[in-house]
Amino acid sequence: MKRIYLDYAATTPVHPEVRNAMLPYLTEEFGNPSSMHARGLAAKEAVARAREQVAGLIGARPGEVVFTGGGTEADNFAFSGVALARRTTHNHLITTGIEHHAVLETCRFLAKMGFTVSYVPVDGVGLVDPQDIEMSLSGSTVMVSVMHANNEIGAIQPLSEIAAAARSAGVLFHTDAVQTVGRIRVNVDELGVDLLSMSAHKLYGPKGVGALYIRRGTNITPMVHGGAQEEGLRAGTENVPGIVGFGVAADIARRELLPEMKRETFLRDRLIQGILASIDQTSLNGHPEQRLPNNVSINFAGVEGEAILVMLDEAGICASGGSACTSGSVSSSHVLLALGCPPELARGCVRFTLGKWTTEEEIETVLNVLPGIVARLRDMSPTYTS
Ligand code: PLP
Repeated sequence: MKRIYLDYAATTPVHPEVRNAMLPYLTEEFGNPSSMHARGLAAKEAVARAREQVAGLIGARPGEVVFTGGGTEADNFAFSGVALARRTTHNHLITTGIEHHAVLETCRFLAKMGFTVSYVPVDGVGLVDPQDIEMSLSGSTVMVSVMHANNEIGAIQPLSEIAAAARSAGVLFHTDAVQTVGRIRVNVDELGVDLLSMSAHKLYGPKGVGALYIRRGTNITPMVHGGAQEEGLRAGTENVPGIVGFGVAADIARRELLPEMKRETFLRDRLIQGILASIDQTSLNGHPEQRLPNNVSINFAGVEGEAILVMLDEAGICASGGSACTSGSVSSSHVLLALGCPPELARGCVRFTLGKWTTEEEIETVLNVLPGIVARLRDMSPTYTS
């Protein structure tokens, strides 16, 4: 059975061009970039080229990009690195309740270390009000962090206004842009960010490699110790094939961004409208327009999202409930609860996320299959009333 993959926010397949670029660095070009000989030099040059490519995608200087072991590490580095660098004078962090666990768990860790964390609220469609950021700022605030777009509901924040609120008070601003880099336009100067997290496997690159953009002059303490790699900011022999793959993925994203955004937005809207029109008691999560071009997050009243996912899987369709990290647990998504969604409705959430190889035909297949699945589950439900 040919499977329909609609979970591109969880991860993407590696682009064939990316794989081909990586292969030599897994075979004959296996050198360590720190070695002085020709093989080492070739690896070092490949990492430098990838740094330029990644920087080019976000409008940064190559020297402002530090490669990491993924988006989670980039988030950890941004928070802990900035917090520790300024801990003698500042002990307050500001973020939101809808962040990825990579941010929320790091905040919890820093709270145990003595930092205070303020969580600004979001409105019913998942957006932060820049005024709430302004009101939370204090003389001891180290950093404000608000994700660019949410991985579960796709809401895109008014980031440049939020960043301006922080920066006009002289406070550093970080964003988790793991879901936006390669998917919508991201430019560090236009957004006005000081730090920005990225991950290669969300843009058709390999897993286990990401980067943190750190604006020149930002004071940050290294978190991984042991060598002088990445200008002393992140020790350890570089993941050369992964970094090369990230670079090529960034180049492809830059080349294809606008037409792909247009194509995905069309398919997204077809799927949203098709579901809302054919299945009653359904609602869209997140902002209807200010949302990622590939995100469709729907609540189905009276059914468990998990049950829909199992039946979709049996029909050859891969989707997700909330985020990949929270699926498998029956608790409601912290993101949907933060929007004010009742817990029983939040449990009926299914997320479809589209990508480069999603076709119109696949969307029509989902629209044919889904109403029957929801109807069958509602028939079995002791609580559902039409
Ligand atoms: N931040 C967001 C918004 C994400 O969606 C993810 C991955 O799902 C991460 C961070 C973590 O990235 P990685 O899987 O590269 O560790």
